[in-house]
Amino acid sequence: MESTRGKIYITRRLPKEVTSRLQEVFDCKWWDHEDVPVPRELLLQEIKTADGLLSMVTDRIDSELLDAAPRLRAVSNMAVGYDNIQVEEAKKRNVIVCNTPDVLTETTADLTVALLLATSRRLEESAIFLKNDEWKSWSPFLLAGLDVHHKTLGIIGLGRIGQAVARRAFGFGMKVLYYNRHRRMAEEQSLGVEYRDLESLLRESDFVCVLTPLTADTYHLISERELSQMKPTAVLINTARGPVVDEVALYTALKNNQIWAAGLDVFDREPVRASHPLVHLPNVLALPHIGSATVDTRMAMANLAVDNLILALTGKEPKYRVC
Ligand code: NAP
Repeated sequence: MESTRGKIYITRRLPKEVTSRLQEVFDCKWWDHEDVPVPRELLLQEIKTADGLLSMVTDRIDSELLDAAPRLRAVSNMAVGYDNIQVEEAKKRNVIVCNTPDVLTETTADLTVALLLATSRRLEESAIFLKNDEWKSWSPFLLAGLDVHHKTLGIIGLGRIGQAVARRAFGFGMKVLYYNRHRRMAEEQSLGVEYRDLESLLRESDFVCVLTPLTADTYHLISERELSQMKPTAVLINTARGPVVDEVALYTALKNNQIWAAGLDVFDREPVRASHPLVHLPNVLALPHIGSATVDTRMAMANLAVDNLILALTGKEPKYRVC
């Protein structure tokens, strides 16, 4: 006899302690690989019978997929960003969309600051220098970098993660500027951050961190013009989403030393290969999208995605609902 329980499809292998919580309530199937995304054709097949989907940033949830999913009532994305989901299309079909903010805020802020320190103090170059046995003598300006302390940090997108980065920056005695579409008067008071329009922020900052979501408005928010407004000694950090920065313009700016360096956790099209032009520049530190990648935080995100899905499919309000 066919089960009357709801059906869930999970697009990656997750730890058993996470999936078992879903299995208590639903019939679950999953793509049993951790490192490879579920093939599109298989997802289009599996979604036909699913009431709920637990998705990753690597899954494209678009009208084609939603049209193939007559029973689908909820998509729970294991990420705070949901640029992989056509939210308006989900809304039209009364499909609930959930995400996992907050639990990854501090971890992603840590990584953002790690990139800021590593690029300014040339940590990757220095470590490679040593591993290549090139260290022959102490010398006055050997691998000399930039100071971070007491410099000016510009945060583009002072949301949850942006504020967590600001709190860390104050520990380094930095002055913190921010640019958002809306001023945050409460945070200006409580944190001591100062609002600037985008151009002023770019002109005044020694470090610029991009922390907006990827939307139609933020696509290529940082392009040739914005890069030309930055100081030649400025460092750009992108831990948001790759397409917020125009990679071709960034490559040119870095190659011509129009800006000092960049720290990138995200790229236009991921995964990037080692042959990607930006990865090879000596003034770029490139990471494979590991902003929230600590064991504790990934477990928290997975558990929150499960909570959201259970709540949404049992007629209750999910903890974090996009639509
Ligand atoms: P959040 O709390 O929603 O903050 C986003 C901020 O961006 C808000 O302050 C928002 O303010 C601002 N913003 C939105 N559109 C803007 C625009 N057009 N121009 C200027 N500012 C704009 O989000 P969060 O939790 O901090 O996360 C931010 C993003 O980080 C996520 O969406 C995700 O893509 C990325 N992320 C990456 C990783 C990673 O692994 N690298 C991990 C976690 C998150 P206004 O609405 O006032 O403009």
